Amino acid sequence: MTRGTDVTDGGKPVTGLRGVGPALASRLAKKGIATVTDLLFLLPNRYEDRTHVVPIGALRHGMRAAVEGEIELAEVVFRRRRSLLVRLADGTGFLTLRFFHFSAAQQQQLARGTRLRCFGEARRGPLGIEIVHPEYRRADAPDTQAVEGVLTPAYPAIEGVPQGRLRNLTAQALAATGEGELRDWLPAELQRDLRLPGLREALAYVHRPPPDASLELLESGRHPAQRRLAFEELLAHQITLRELRNEIRRDPAHAIAPPGALAARLQAGVGFPLTAAQHRVLREIRADLAVPHPMLRLVQGDVGSGKTIVAAIAALDCVEAGFQAALMAPTELLAEQHAQNFARWLAPLAIEPLLLTGRLAERARRAALAGVADGSRAIVIGTHALFQEEVRFARLALVVVDEQHRFGVHQRMRLRDKGATGRYPHQLIMTATPIPRTLAMTAYADLDVSVIDQLPPGRTPVQTVVLPDSRRDQVIARIRGACGGGRQAYWVCPLIEESDLLEAQAAEDTAAALAVALPEVAIGLVHGRMPVPARERTMARFKAGQIALLVATTVIEVGVDVPNASLMVVENAERMGLAQLHQLRGRVGRGSEASSCVLLWHPPLSPLAKQRLAVLRNTSDGFEVARRDLELRGPGELLGTRQTGLPQMRVADLVRDADLLPAVQAAAEVMMRSHAANIAPLKRRWIGAATRYGKV
Ligand code: ADP
Ligand code: MG
Repeated sequence: MTRGTDVTDGGKPVTGLRGVGPALASRLAKKGIATVTDLLFLLPNRYEDRTHVVPIGALRHGMRAAVEGEIELAEVVFRRRRSLLVRLADGTGFLTLRFFHFSAAQQQQLARGTRLRCFGEARRGPLGIEIVHPEYRRADAPDTQAVEGVLTPAYPAIEGVPQGRLRNLTAQALAATGEGELRDWLPAELQRDLRLPGLREALAYVHRPPPDASLELLESGRHPAQRRLAFEELLAHQITLRELRNEIRRDPAHAIAPPGALAARLQAGVGFPLTAAQHRVLREIRADLAVPHPMLRLVQGDVGSGKTIVAAIAALDCVEAGFQAALMAPTELLAEQHAQNFARWLAPLAIEPLLLTGRLAERARRAALAGVADGSRAIVIGTHALFQEEVRFARLALVVVDEQHRFGVHQRMRLRDKGATGRYPHQLIMTATPIPRTLAMTAYADLDVSVIDQLPPGRTPVQTVVLPDSRRDQVIARIRGACGGGRQAYWVCPLIEESDLLEAQAAEDTAAALAVALPEVAIGLVHGRMPVPARERTMARFKAGQIALLVATTVIEVGVDVPNASLMVVENAERMGLAQLHQLRGRVGRGSEASSCVLLWHPPLSPLAKQRLAVLRNTSDGFEVARRDLELRGPGELLGTRQTGLPQMRVADLVRDADLLPAVQAAAEVMMRSHAANIAPLKRRWIGAATRYGKV
């Protein structure tokens, strides 16, 4: 769908509004605003209280405020950049207005003696408090003496369209759009149950809150008018994801339902019975595989709940049925480890998994690709390298994606193309980043969800302590004790997001320092800049117990499985996310030994960071950790908006509006069943063409 030309929303084109010429229209069109009605759905993301003027002397750094005063001085200076500085005073103090871009006319207008009303954000500058590029207008004309009567909406920035213009346009749009012109695509039956304001009423309120509106209520996004709009927005997204899912489910896939002889042999060989939760999830997966349409299933299971074996069984079913299965991991280290586990598990069945990473030497790579293409390699394990075009499968029936929080809707879509001719592969996505149910309903509405909600027996919960790094010596003594007693430990070095080179260096320094402090302990080091063979050797020696203390960067975050390791130390824990820390902590507590995790922090510790670390100390339940994380951070950060394909919402907030989600889901069903014609315009209104899900 192309925007800017099709005017389907009962709307007149924006060019009909006063002051909108082709240039402005094209700027608006870039944001998907073609019609007068579209303008109404450009919603304020903030409000400003200009209902009273603040004395200049009371301005503080960071305040957004309206001030009024007289120009005392205006001069163009050439410091680093040419700029116009205007000194404004009101008897309580003075302030500098700074303009980097200004016209000759502006310069003339801002002459000494002029009274100005300005609005903007006060900052500390070289000359005291200043406002850069304030909104301003002359205040000496008689009709501007009164202050604003209502809260002033601030709109999402549109390049080349100043806020004042956006306010003017939305005011015109409100005036031009009567009740009859603005179609409400929510069927009456749904509106009745909602008990929220009508659409036009809600829009009028958020664009121009009345004089008695509470800034606090509006800024928190909980006003009924906002909730009404949030409901619609969530509904539009929910329907989009469901349609996507329905579309995929109509695609053809291979129905996989072998007797399960290979899987049975694997289970007999691993030496432990599956937990009840693993059995249940496996049944759900098998039911999906048996259908000739692609499975799209997300398996959530806390760290250590045993997702890998479940995936291995599903893969074996495909192999038994004569097809190939691929397993994709987010890091090379994890891919290597999966390959080793699978190799061990599958050796008695005479199946050799193929490890395909970006680091294979050319000849090995060509041989590997040939084996994938002729179907002789039935199980292929790798990283993103599996996505590459040259990787062609002969008979791919299943793609397993491990630790899905790093893959988004888009990537899931790309995997579809890897299937055998004319058929699409089943998709199994596994994650230990537990997504609270309400969020999963929205973020993953295109997936079915299975939960492994039980850990294998005999695990002891990890005891977590939070300490300042001034107590490092004590921690080192603890490592000495653990390693002396035959147990193993991890020491995780600080995350340095800007540079993995610096991160690697820091890890090397830490390893060297620990070697001095713990001469009797065998220490190994792994980090992301190491050549793979060296890293593999170190990991193998750690697994075999020849290394007692593994110093590592966060490369060991996901998946690494060494049951004898029972102590984990994380440095600069305050820099890491909760989900990441929970994952790291999941490296211990895998054996029967009581395990502990020491989270070291470096001062100063912000109150928020303190709260976050306390969450980990107080709970070992990944779902609870995720729920608290969501509360403290918001869903965008938790999921990584870009990574999930979850678009930025305009009014809705998945945490704040979580209570609306059950009604949103029910409404999506009603709309899809009985009001299909309303769906396209509703989606266009809220999602438009700017946000694309899926097939890209
Ligand atoms: P995760 O869900 O975090 O990926 P893994 O699949 O790595 O967990 O399993 C963690 C460990 O538990 C592995 O050593 C695995 O072999 C073991 N395991 C898996 N299922 C069971 C079970 N039912 N009983 C005992 N151990 C199990
Ligand atoms: Mg795993």
